[in-house]
Amino acid sequence: MKQSQMLIPTLKEDPADAEIQSHKLLTRAGYIRQIAAGIYSFLPIGQRVLRKVEAIVREEMEKVGAHEMMMPALEPSELWKETGRWTTFGSELMRLHDRNDREFALGATHEEVITSLVRHEVKSYKQLPLTVFQIQNKFRDEARPRFGLLRGREFLMKDAYSFNESYESLDETYQKMFDAYSNIFRRLGLNFRAVIADSGAMGGKDTHEFMVLSEVGEDVIAYSDTSRYAANIEMAPVVATYEKTAEEPRAMEKIETPGQKTMQQVADYLGHGLEQGLKAILFQVDEEFVLVVTRGDHEVNDVKLKNLFDADIVELASEEDTKRLLGAGFGSLGPVAVGEEVRVVADHAVNALVNVSCGANEEGYHYTNVTPGQDFEVEEYADLRFIKEGDPSPDGEGTIKFARGIEVGHVFKLGEFYSERMNATFLNDQGKANTMIMGSYGIGVSRTLAAIVEQYHDERGITWPANVAPYQVHLLSMNPKKEDQKELADQLYDTLLEAGIEVLYDDRKERAGVKFADSDLFGIPVRVTVGKRASEGIVEVKERTTGEQNELSHDEIVGYVK
Ligand code: ATP
Ligand code: MG
Ligand code: MG
Ligand code: MG
Repeated sequence: MKQSQMLIPTLKEDPADAEIQSHKLLTRAGYIRQIAAGIYSFLPIGQRVLRKVEAIVREEMEKVGAHEMMMPALEPSELWKETGRWTTFGSELMRLHDRNDREFALGATHEEVITSLVRHEVKSYKQLPLTVFQIQNKFRDEARPRFGLLRGREFLMKDAYSFNESYESLDETYQKMFDAYSNIFRRLGLNFRAVIADSGAMGGKDTHEFMVLSEVGEDVIAYSDTSRYAANIEMAPVVATYEKTAEEPRAMEKIETPGQKTMQQVADYLGHGLEQGLKAILFQVDEEFVLVVTRGDHEVNDVKLKNLFDADIVELASEEDTKRLLGAGFGSLGPVAVGEEVRVVADHAVNALVNVSCGANEEGYHYTNVTPGQDFEVEEYADLRFIKEGDPSPDGEGTIKFARGIEVGHVFKLGEFYSERMNATFLNDQGKANTMIMGSYGIGVSRTLAAIVEQYHDERGITWPANVAPYQVHLLSMNPKKEDQKELADQLYDTLLEAGIEVLYDDRKERAGVKFADSDLFGIPVRVTVGKRASEGIVEVKERTTGEQNELSHDEIVGYVK
C-alpha cells in the first residue's frame, strides 16, 4: 500500500485521556480512533492487525473441531428472561426497543442465542459433541470504560460454545479448548498464565482465565514461583458465614456483631486487597449469613447488587431471590448452581486464596476450609487465614507471589445452567431425554491486540511480533523528489509485492525525520530505506525491535525478508 493514499493519521502528542501505552501508541500511530467513551474505529492498519489476530484464533479453533458461525447482535429479551439474565446481567446489558416496543439486548454474550438455536436443531446424542464459535462485536455498558481497547463498550470477541452429552465429554472439550487457548496466546508471543478462576461453589477446575502479565492489568493473580499454580485472587473465594442454629437462639443477637466483626477482620486481613478497594457485603441466605467481599473496582457488580436488592444486607426469601443474587454475582458468563449447596456467592466476590466458612456453635466458632473440606476450630475471627505474598503455594510447591494480569481469555464449564433453564435436551442412546452439558469460551480479540502492544513497545513506538504486524516491510524513500530514489523505491515496492511480501510504502513528500518517526511508531518489523546510495542500488535495512542496521543491495531484499 502506498502511504500517500492511506488513512494513517499519526499524532505527535499522546491523547489527553490515555493512561496506558497501548492506548497512547495505537492512537498516535493511527491504528484506532475513539468515537465515544469505550467505542473505537479501527483504521486500515488497525484492521489489518485485528484480522491477523483473528486468523490465529480462527485457525486454532478449527484445529480443535470448532466451526465458525455468526449470530445476530440483536437478541430478543424473551431469551434472556428464560435464563433470568435479563434481570441479573444488570446495567452492563445494553437494551433497546423496536418500533413495536419489543425489547432487545445488544449482544453482550451469546449463551441464550446459541442455546435457543441448538435446542431446536440438535435432537440426538449422535449430533454431540458440538462446538461452534463466532468472532463478532460485543456490547457491554461498562461502568468505567477505560484503557482504550482493554475495556471498551463495543469490542471484538471470539466466543465459542460447546454442547456435550456428559460431563466427561465436556471435560474433553474443555481440555481441547484450554490447549487451543494456550497455543493462541503462545503464537501471539504473549507472556501469559492460565489461572484458576473458580468460585468455591463451582469447585476448583471449572473455569480458567488466560492472563497476560502486565502492570496495567486490572486483575491480580497469585502464583507459585516454582510450579504452574496460579489463581485470580478476585476469583478465589474467602467467604465467612455465620450460622444461625436452632439450639442457640442467642445466635440471632450475635448475628449483627460477628457479621460485622468478620467483615472487619476480613478487611484487616486483606490489607493487600484493600489497597485495591475491597468492599464487604453481608447477605442472608436461608439460615446463614454470608459475607461477601467484593472488589471495589468491580463497581458494576456492587451497583448491580444494589439495584437488585436495594440494600447491603439482603434476606433471600426464595430460591428466585437466590438465583437473582447468584446471577448478579457471577459476572457475565458463569453459572452458579442453585440449591442447598449455594452459600458461597459470586466468582468475582472475594479476594484471597483460602476458602473459609465459619459458623458459630456452643463451643465457639468453627471454620471450614471449603477446598479440602476440613473443619478446624479457632477462638477468634482473627484466625481466618488468607494467602499473602510469601505464603506456601496451595499445591505445596514454592511460595506465593502476586502479579497483575489482563484477562484476555476465559474458558468456562457451564454445565446445565443454560440448557436446564432453556430446556435444551437430546435423546441419549437409550432414547431417553437428557439435558445438554455446556461450556463457553471467550477471547477478547481487540483486548488481546492491545495486550500485545503492552508487551511489545519501546520509547519510540510499537514493536509488533512479525505474525501480527500490519505489514512485514516498511519501505521508505528518504527524498522522493530525487529521481533515482523514487525510481529505486518504486521498483523495490513492485518487487516486494510480486514476492508476496506485505509492504507499506512511504512515498509521501515528507521530511525524512517525519518518516522515520512514523515508521518507529507503526512498529513494522523491517524498515527498508532508499536514500543517498540509491544510484548504486544500495539501500538500508533496519530491524525495528533490535535496531540492527545493514546496507544491502536492492536485489538482496526479498531474500532478506523471506
Ligand atoms: P472483565 O473481568 O475484564 O470485565 P469479563 O470476565 O467480564 O472481563 P468475559 O465475560 O469472560 O469477560 O468475556 C470473555 C472475554 O472478553 C474476556 O476474557 C476479555 O478478554 C473480553 N472482554 C470482556 N469485557 C471486555 C471489554 N469491556 N472490552 C474488551 N474486551 C473485553
Ligand atoms: Mg466484565
Ligand atoms: Mg473477568
Ligand atoms: Mg471473564
